[in-house]
Amino acid sequence: MIQLHDKQFVPFISATEIDFAIKKMVAQIEDDFFDETPIFIGVLNGSFMVVSDFLKLYKKPCEVSFIKLASYEGTSSTESVKQLIGLNQDLTGRSVIVIEDIIDTGNTLEELKNLFKQQNVKHFKIATLFFKPEAYKKDIKIDYVGIRIPNKFIVGFGLDYDGLGRNLPEVFQLKE
Ligand code: 5GP
Ligand code: MG
Repeated sequence: MIQLHDKQFVPFISATEIDFAIKKMVAQIEDDFFDETPIFIGVLNGSFMVVSDFLKLYKKPCEVSFIKLASYEGTSSTESVKQLIGLNQDLTGRSVIVIEDIIDTGNTLEELKNLFKQQNVKHFKIATLFFKPEAYKKDIKIDYVGIRIPNKFIVGFGLDYDGLGRNLPEVFQLKE
């Protein structure tokens, strides 16, 4: 068991299981994009670790870049505008594969899809290491899923609780 801030977490997904899931995603994407040079886009902060492991296993030509989503409070308290930070590359005609750490409600994914709509890409695919089907509220297809998990809060492997836990090499779950 570990303690982060005021909360306790118990082991949930081992480094071996994570490695297996990433290898599976790599194999699928290598197959689907064997004749292309895809550009992988990691969504910071959470995805830095999965992107790193993914790329070390990906043996075909590829590029990588990172973006961050920024939400700005609008004039009214409910209004929030998301922006892409760090996308300073022309993606016209490119095969873009976004790599996410986790997809929960799908709100972030929907924002990303809308933001990338204006980029004239050839393919736009979504890969996520973790996916919570019970929490997912959107109709957007998720192309590559590493591990489906129940609707529980997890930390580790890039994911944090209030800043802590990103460095953990395996995943922990909030203790009930
Ligand atoms: P969404 O609800 O938009 O699909 O998920 C948005 C973000 O919530 C994720 O990118 C991630 O930062 C955070 N998130 C969702 N579920 C979890 C979780 O179980 N643990 C942690 N640490 N973050 C989560
Ligand atoms: Mg994320």
